[in-house]
Amino acid sequence: MDIQYRLEQKRNISGSFPGPRSAALAERRAAVVAKGVASSVPVYAADADGGVIVDVDGNSLVDLGSGIAVTTVGAGNPKVAAAVAEQAARFTHTCFMVTPYEGYVELAEKLAKLTPGTHEKKSVFFNSGAEAVENAVKVARVATGRTAVVAFDHAYHGRTNLTMGLTAKAAPYKRGFGPLASEIYRMPMSYPFREENPNISGKEAAERAILAMEKQIGGDQIAAIIIEPIQGEGGFIVPAEGFLPRIAEWAKEQGIVFIADEVQSGFCRTGAWFASEHEGVVPDIVTLAKGIAGGMPLSGIVGRAELLDSVHPGGLGGTYGGNPVAVAAALAALDFMEEQDLSGRAREIEARFYARLRPLQQEIAAIGDLRGRGAMLAIEFVKAGGIEPDADLTKKIAADCLAQGVVILTCGTYGNVVRLLPPLVMGDALLDDALDVLEAAIRANA
Ligand SMILES: *Cc1c(COP(=O)(O)O)cnc(C)c1O
Repeated sequence: MDIQYRLEQKRNISGSFPGPRSAALAERRAAVVAKGVASSVPVYAADADGGVIVDVDGNSLVDLGSGIAVTTVGAGNPKVAAAVAEQAARFTHTCFMVTPYEGYVELAEKLAKLTPGTHEKKSVFFNSGAEAVENAVKVARVATGRTAVVAFDHAYHGRTNLTMGLTAKAAPYKRGFGPLASEIYRMPMSYPFREENPNISGKEAAERAILAMEKQIGGDQIAAIIIEPIQGEGGFIVPAEGFLPRIAEWAKEQGIVFIADEVQSGFCRTGAWFASEHEGVVPDIVTLAKGIAGGMPLSGIVGRAELLDSVHPGGLGGTYGGNPVAVAAALAALDFMEEQDLSGRAREIEARFYARLRPLQQEIAAIGDLRGRGAMLAIEFVKAGGIEPDADLTKKIAADCLAQGVVILTCGTYGNVVRLLPPLVMGDALLDDALDVLEAAIRANA
């Protein structure tokens, strides 16, 4: 990497934390912002660049969350900022469904090349990951004339009505928000750390799900199977090798649209452009968002031309979908990822993480599992020796890290997973500093 940072890449917490300005903002917020939106960090951002976030009291935090896997190229990337400013000065919106513009077409051209498979592809752009997922399902239903949609245990696909139905975890995502959409079926995932039979292969885990689909739905009734190639909110679960290829193969045999939800795992995050590539899986449709546009709200679906084109003109779209400023940001972010080989950087981060955490796992019985690829990495905490989830310990470790100025996120069906999603522009010194803090927090609490 050859990156000039605007802000000093150093962790620095001084005085009370949260400081007085953040405390005052928290008070103003409590009066006017709905409680339903919760924040994991108690301080308010004033600036961000590379691997640091500076708060309103001047504290510098190390960012191991990237705003949930979004700011892969950094939250203050100068190339993205310049592209945004340049486009915003010309026009901010015309609506692609009214007066189209070149950037949208250029991004579709670019994604057709970058996404897995050499087949002819088409794209549509939206604003959020959930919207991309909704539209992938719409396309699959029209293309197949079928209605059933299959999702997996531990899945996370969003918070809109259809996508919260696809999401597995009830609290906080679904509780009280029903009625949920119908024709959604949930199948057993491959979760190597928690398999009853620890020797079950990925292919066997796939056959288990396939049998359930055949018995409970029937292959010829299924429009789409949607799966995250590495599950995000559900716990950074990497299915056993062979699971994804077998599910994709069976989908093909049955005429089912195989949708890879790469909203979190895409765009260099796992050490490749897309996580599907690690096992050579070629999805029929990929859903994209989060890392796509350097922090600007943009999402999209890219899929087989004949599938996407099965939808009648006017059937897909949205007022803001593929907004020109967001598209300009995406084109700049993708250039930056290529120029700086951020997939390579993700693999370096992976190597540094395992070199550090594997020996620690030998010492600390509460570290049940280490997993993940690239810079999508996780530690699953358990009651010493067994596999019983330890959510309290996980919370304490995350809180300790935060008190030391390291922003770290938790996840998992059982709330017992610490996940690392650093911006890929974070340098080694800052990464090592954050890992020092994490190691000390684990030692102090486990
Ligand atoms: C975050 C996420 C979504 C939803 O994206 P939003 O932009 O929050 O709507 C969907 N799928 C996966 C895998 C995600 O991680």
